[in-house]
Amino acid sequence: MSSLSSNLPTSPSTLRVGCVGGGQLGRMMALEAPRLNIDMRFLDAEGSSCPAGQVVGATDRNGVERIVKGALYDEDKLAELAEGCNVVTMEIEHVGVQGLEKLEAKGVNVQPSSRIIKIIQDKFVQKEHFSKYGIPLPPYADLPNLEAIHDAALQFGLPLMLKSRKGAYDGRGNTVLRETTPEAITTALADLGLKAEDLGDTLYAEGWVRFYSEVAVMVVRSTNGETRAYPATTAVQTDSICRVVLVPARNVPANIRHKCENIAMKAVNALGDGATGMFGVELFLVENGVDDIDVLLNEVAPRPHNTGHYTQDACATSQFENHLRAVCGLPLGDTNLLVGAAAMVNVLGAPSGDINETMKGVNAAMSIPRAVVHWYGKGCRPGRKMGHINMTADSHAELDTSLSRILELERISYD
Ligand code: ATP
Ligand code: MG
Ligand code: MG
Repeated sequence: MSSLSSNLPTSPSTLRVGCVGGGQLGRMMALEAPRLNIDMRFLDAEGSSCPAGQVVGATDRNGVERIVKGALYDEDKLAELAEGCNVVTMEIEHVGVQGLEKLEAKGVNVQPSSRIIKIIQDKFVQKEHFSKYGIPLPPYADLPNLEAIHDAALQFGLPLMLKSRKGAYDGRGNTVLRETTPEAITTALADLGLKAEDLGDTLYAEGWVRFYSEVAVMVVRSTNGETRAYPATTAVQTDSICRVVLVPARNVPANIRHKCENIAMKAVNALGDGATGMFGVELFLVENGVDDIDVLLNEVAPRPHNTGHYTQDACATSQFENHLRAVCGLPLGDTNLLVGAAAMVNVLGAPSGDINETMKGVNAAMSIPRAVVHWYGKGCRPGRKMGHINMTADSHAELDTSLSRILELERISYD
């Protein structure tokens, strides 16, 4: 185990940031950090072979190891990560809140704070918080027992969305209940690896939202509460996984895009003190009559987000740079779109799990003008997020020419 005392010689302006998690989001932060004179280190179960570990040198100039190998819930490892850091941040919300609280009690600067992670990492608590602050939400209910599932189905109708309160991603943790027979309920619970007796604080219910589009807005908030939104985007999901992001949001009038950006900023501000860094805000658009569109909040992630990857090539300041600026207390960067239109396509592991098959679209994208490849360095598995391709153009029409080629290569189709 290496240690770093705060009086080791270093450039006076070098900031040390410890990041909990060294996956692709950490890797993309790590790639931005040196330009800002920020030195990053990571805690990850995989150790130095994690995506972030692959892009940072093994040690910093004081000989301190940049990768702490350990579980994100391991309090000793968290403390080791934090040693000598100006700030500790995270690239994932599924981390140990108690460990973060202990760091804060010792005076470590944790951004976003443990209080924010505690609210967000339990989706039901998150809903209760936003509801208190008047953020528009789909109807939702606590599920302490089987009876509550029947009550929610009666109240919200079918289908009914059952969601895991904690630990969910890419739709893993959600299941759709289409009828309320005992068999259907047993099957829905079994989908999530649960039985009726596991109900209590494991799941909650959401009314089915008949949205016509999903929108995502990236918001950055500084330590002093300044909040800026990136432009509203269309987030195309297939099988609950984000596949394509279109910017500015398609078929969404400018006033609704601005409404989305305002609701996203209001939600992040409603989190209050300690809501620092990037936040990915997922929204549903619901048609309500001829000219009216309701905006409902689905969920918020307290970190850079898949729907914000386009900012790397389409905005003056990427979401990764702005996250680092915000958590370090540096001035926030500009969030405007610098191009007429942009898109991001996720590259998922091919169904065969074969890396060469997976790389086909990426290789072809290299010869498409204004298409930029970002690779994560992860082991290939079917359906796993392996990388993404950003595209920029002067207009939607121009973008669509190269986008349709990439969609074909990645075998993506959507309405
Ligand atoms: P992420 O990877 O974004 O963290 P997650 O596992 O937290 O995903 P959600 O965002 O809750 O899952 O849901 C995944 C997708 O399922 C949504 O993007 C949306 O397409 C659909 N969905 C979620 N909630 C509802 C709902 N109440 N009604 C209809 N569809 C929904
Ligand atoms: Mg989620
Ligand atoms: Mg989501």
